[in-house]
Amino acid sequence: MNFSLTEDQLAVRDLARKLAREVLAPRARELDRRHEYPSGALGELAGLGLLGVNVPEEYGGAAAGAVAYAAAIMEIAEACASTSVVTAVTNMVAEQIVAFGTEEQKRRFVPLLTSGEAVAGAFALSEPHCGSDAAALTTTARREGGAFILDGEKQWITSGDHAGVLLVWARTGGPGAKGISCFIVEGGAKGMTPGRPEHKMGLSASSTVPLVFENCAVPADRLLGELGGGFRIAMSALDGGRIGIGAQAVGVMRACLAAGARYAKERRAFGKPIAEQEAIRWKLADMATELAAAEALVFAAAWLKEQGRPFTREASMAKLFASEAANRATKEAVQIHGGYGYFDEFSVERLFRDARVETLYEGTSEVQRIVIARHVLQ
Ligand SMILES: Cc1cc2nc3c(=O)[nH]c(=O)nc-3n(C[C@H](O)[C@H](O)[C@H](O)COP(=O)(O)OP(=O)(O)OC[C@H]3O[C@@H](n4cnc5c(N)ncnc54)[C@H](O)[C@@H]3O)c2cc1C
Repeated sequence: MNFSLTEDQLAVRDLARKLAREVLAPRARELDRRHEYPSGALGELAGLGLLGVNVPEEYGGAAAGAVAYAAAIMEIAEACASTSVVTAVTNMVAEQIVAFGTEEQKRRFVPLLTSGEAVAGAFALSEPHCGSDAAALTTTARREGGAFILDGEKQWITSGDHAGVLLVWARTGGPGAKGISCFIVEGGAKGMTPGRPEHKMGLSASSTVPLVFENCAVPADRLLGELGGGFRIAMSALDGGRIGIGAQAVGVMRACLAAGARYAKERRAFGKPIAEQEAIRWKLADMATELAAAEALVFAAAWLKEQGRPFTREASMAKLFASEAANRATKEAVQIHGGYGYFDEFSVERLFRDARVETLYEGTSEVQRIVIARHVLQ
């Protein structure tokens, strides 16, 4: 077994680390306070190949693999979780078009994502009445001549108002998973209207919007994969996406551990640094242990993906454990900071809010357990 990153993986990680520490981290608090979308940062990420880490070079990607991708997301999330989710979704959309697209679709849309020209990618699956039960979606796409006409409503779509390239799932057939198809839709398409960005608990610098489709004509050659094959694309995207969210949780935990350790050494109570109190040391020890376990699970899932081996179960385990552990870590990091942890002068206040969504999106913890248990019982 080899637990080391290769030279190429380290190079990607170091590029992400440098940008994260020098550019993203200093801006993170202000972007969060102003609820400002990180458009500028996305351009810089694109310039470093970080919007297509696991995408072939011929489509503008870095072709560095799934492990390098996880390492990069960890670095970005440690600095700014909002930027990391926008980055992760954009990578996911680019990867899905590479995996399921025609050559024409790949050449046309993937470079828009990897170069930053599209600003971001968006993944429009959830609807107001269904998230976990995505196969119950009711947005429709009916064929009319050379186009599909989309009608319906999507909810909570990350970057839905900024993205130049969106994947949109809609029903082209009967009920259930087999009646669903996936379409590539360009930002600004006539008949697609993004709503007002939601006011969220955390990830305030990312944008989360509803999308309304009214008579939105999408050329028939924008169907991604087969007619009725959309649900398989969504599930495949989410498998990879869960590695991204696991990596995001690892980044948040790293930031918490560093902030908690730093503060514990500085803050004095009862005549000595609080780091000398056993209660505080145990919190730090538990955070460090869970962080190491989360990192191992995320990299293991990414490694399996990179080897072309099945990784659905491992991606769910990584996402489940890392996201739950990140919530424990952020809670304890706030506790170590005492009252100061409740104020946004300290990063742990933001990290606490940012971590909360990690057990919810791209499959709740309950959904991850359903996936894992299904594999256990097979
Ligand atoms: C900030 C944010 C960004 C998002 N970005 C996107 C995006 O870009 N694209 C997109 O398509 N979606 C996005 N989502 C939506 C997200 O994926 C859904 O919120 C998530 O899938 C959960 O669906 P739901 O909210 O409808 O919860 P529900 O499915 O209604 O679940 C409610 C509760 O019931 C539980 N539950 C449901 N079914 C079962 C079951 N069978 N067994 C046990 N428990 C169950 C759930 O675990 C949960 O605790 C985003 C959400 C948020 C909060």
